[in-house]
Amino acid sequence: MSNDVSILTANILKALSHITQVEMTNGRKPGSVCLVAISKTKPLWMLEHAYALGLRHFGENYVQEAVEKIDALAELADISWHFVGALQSNKSQLVADRFAWVHTIDRVKIAQRLSQQRPAHMPALNVLIQINISDETTKGGILLKDLHHFAEKIIDLPNLCVRGLMAIPDKSLSQQETEDSYCLMQNSLTSLRQQFENHPKCHHLDSLSMGMSEDFPIAIGQGATMIRLGTTLFGAREKK
Ligand SMILES: *Cc1c(COP(=O)(O)O)cnc(C)c1O
Repeated sequence: MSNDVSILTANILKALSHITQVEMTNGRKPGSVCLVAISKTKPLWMLEHAYALGLRHFGENYVQEAVEKIDALAELADISWHFVGALQSNKSQLVADRFAWVHTIDRVKIAQRLSQQRPAHMPALNVLIQINISDETTKGGILLKDLHHFAEKIIDLPNLCVRGLMAIPDKSLSQQETEDSYCLMQNSLTSLRQQFENHPKCHHLDSLSMGMSEDFPIAIGQGATMIRLGTTLFGAREKK
């Protein structure tokens, strides 16, 4: 094995066992937290190798880069592709055509377009509402106070399946503050389920995408169902 491949293998195996250990210490079933491998800026061979080690969920931030990778890896048909970047309306068709999940829904307009553009032969597009949990003006996401109103507007879009919430807390928060943010996310999902208690799509509201390389153990402790890891798996990214 070349050195790069053995480093990647070691990183991935180490991350998988760390995740299992954190699941167990938090009373979660091993394997119950979905690992989304964030492969933005990383070359195809790394994705192929991660696939060979069993990873099936990959996340990308930049539409053009993602489309090239998805088309190049089309033979690996059981990959679920997750879009986790900021989405502009002129790129929504490409996302509607190829992805299984979008984690960053924060505009009704984009949600409507994705629903209209989703090809009829594909299953509904799974979407998460992004919450700007630390009220950062530079970040995407809606404010928590707007969640119920926003959810009302997108829950019935026919070709979307609203699955829950996603957030990226401010990186400068302390561990305790990060934990508080994730706890608030968990409570917000509970309150969303209460809001739609009698709605036919309520049972789909089961997902919390939170936790990255630096803080995923905290997120799992607060009920994350999906974690998004880049650096831990693939190494540091060059600045774009
Ligand atoms: C880049 C990115 C990640 C992965 O970040 P790491 O700190 O490298 O694990 C997760 N989520 C989103 C939305 C990202 O853009």
